Amino acid sequence: MTEKQQSEAYRTAVRQLITANHILHYHKVVDAYGHVSVRSPDDAEVYILSGNRAPALVSSATDLIEYRVSDSSPVDHSAGSGFLERFIHSEIYKRFPEVNCVIHSHAEAVLPYVAGNVEMKPTFHIAGFLGTKVPVYNIATSYEKMSSYEKEVQQDMLISNDQYGFDLANHFSKRGSWSCDHNVVLMTNHGFTAVGSSIKQSVYRAVYTCVNADVQTKAMMISSARASQGASRSEPVYLTEKQARGCQKMNDATMDRPWGLWEREVEVCPLYRNDELESKTSAP
Ligand SMILES: [Zn+2]
Repeated sequence: MTEKQQSEAYRTAVRQLITANHILHYHKVVDAYGHVSVRSPDDAEVYILSGNRAPALVSSATDLIEYRVSDSSPVDHSAGSGFLERFIHSEIYKRFPEVNCVIHSHAEAVLPYVAGNVEMKPTFHIAGFLGTKVPVYNIATSYEKMSSYEKEVQQDMLISNDQYGFDLANHFSKRGSWSCDHNVVLMTNHGFTAVGSSIKQSVYRAVYTCVNADVQTKAMMISSARASQGASRSEPVYLTEKQARGCQKMNDATMDRPWGLWEREVEVCPLYRNDELESKTSAP
């Protein structure tokens, strides 16, 4: 990251971003892959993302890179190599000014829902932020729009340019809307992306998207078992639209509690190091 005058809000965002990397790893939202970014509190046209490294190993501000929202180019051209999929972040920040944190994941708990053609639904109150419909973006639709020459390029499923990023960002809006109407979008044969107005909110949503996926999988298994025993109802019960709306407000009002726990969990785990946290406590 470039050396310059930084606000306290910026330094807090950096500390939280490093901790968020650790929390997401601790809770199996990311492994060696996956990433989390934050919009710079000092410049809305810049976002901060780690360089090309596993989230668990991000430990200081020097591991982070500032990118321009406009085209995902690094602010400092001498910055090291970055994630190929950073266009996920830039295109979402470009389209939705209210989004300040973006998380991209290939979490194992969610993968059955991006390969199995089964809709993800909110199974309990902590996952109200999912709403009753979680959109699915299939990059194959973007490949289809390419010219026959372009289709010959490597179809590796990565959001590696602004067009794929734009098409993904589009799925956060309801048809015809330019507002961010969804908090999570699933990505066919790939994973999911979660957004929020703060690091804490996005981390909450990413973690509980995975928990919800796990619960839904088990609920569907139990429902199938019930059906095999002759029960008339074979579908799990999900939150209604009104319940999901009400629960989302509750989710936002209570997210400080899990954040406090998760912060402590990674603080005491020797795998993770946050030098910016140490520099804060040792400051005069
Ligand atoms: Zn990915």
